[in-house]
Amino acid sequence: MAAELIKGKEVASTIRQRLKEETEALKTRGIVPGLTVLLVGDDPASLSYVKGKVKACGEVGLRSDLKRYPATIREEELLKEIQTCNEDDTVDGILVQLPLPKHIDERKVIEAISPEKDVDGFHPVSVGKMVIGEETFYSCTPAGIIEMVKSKNIDIAGKHVVIVGRSNIVGKPAGLLFLKENATVTYCHSKTVGLSNYTRQADILVVAVGRAGIIGKEDVKPGAVVIDVGVNRNAEGKLVGDVRFDEVKEVASYLTPVPGGVGPMTITMLLANTIKAAKNRRGI
Ligand code: NDP
Repeated sequence: MAAELIKGKEVASTIRQRLKEETEALKTRGIVPGLTVLLVGDDPASLSYVKGKVKACGEVGLRSDLKRYPATIREEELLKEIQTCNEDDTVDGILVQLPLPKHIDERKVIEAISPEKDVDGFHPVSVGKMVIGEETFYSCTPAGIIEMVKSKNIDIAGKHVVIVGRSNIVGKPAGLLFLKENATVTYCHSKTVGLSNYTRQADILVVAVGRAGIIGKEDVKPGAVVIDVGVNRNAEGKLVGDVRFDEVKEVASYLTPVPGGVGPMTITMLLANTIKAAKNRRGI
């Protein structure tokens, strides 16, 4: 039987409706949550992601401010700009679009953002709090994945979740959030020997590698839930995931498509984090 698709667009639209209502309620109290996005350089992909984020803010009624800097900006200057945003009371969330030019140390930039405005959830304080199970900003893609699974009322507790990929922005935090939901979690990565032996044991398989078609039907246990985070361009220039969709659709119980799967959820969780920051900062 073909897998049921978990469509990120649909899940995102339900959550965005709720966020819109939350924003309207805050507005009646004179609060308009605001996100400031800092973009360095003019990489077309980054510009398109940033535009998507700014547009989404407008759709739920959040204020957004896009600050653009030339690719030649010095690290100290960028750090100063972040400091200005930290001190600006009208800014609730700060996001620095990655990647940054090579001469700028990404870690320094992330650490310069005030943890109370860290809506991307990349600051070591946010990550540390997530590890010890304290309330904080969760990084957006992993938080979106959890929402997608929950949207289908799939039980996570006690399930074996296998995560392929261990990046700081997707794989690692995704595993921690599933652990928080009482799953048993296995991480796989480029040094894993016999990847398929692990993926075939997964009740929920999350693939975040960035290699088109790395997971086929032989790597998936029949009935598993498969979340495809990967975004790749195939030889024809079409967007495809890490999972061979047509094959895996025949064995999985649920599957996320690419595009239209995890992507729309990532921005939605950013909006949610911005509203959360606005509330936290005012003790609401
Ligand atoms: P990274 O390149 O940072 O991490 C890739 C991970 O995959 C690494 O942990 C790497 O292992 C692992 N890996 C590489 N090759 C293999 C292999 N042959 N077998 C098993 N594991 C392997 O990527 P990201 O985490 O940033 O992103 C992953 C994918 O998700 C990309 O396609 C990206 O575009 C997409 N993405 C999509 C988002 C969305 O909103 N839809 C958001 C963010 C990312 P090792 O650590 O050993 O090198």
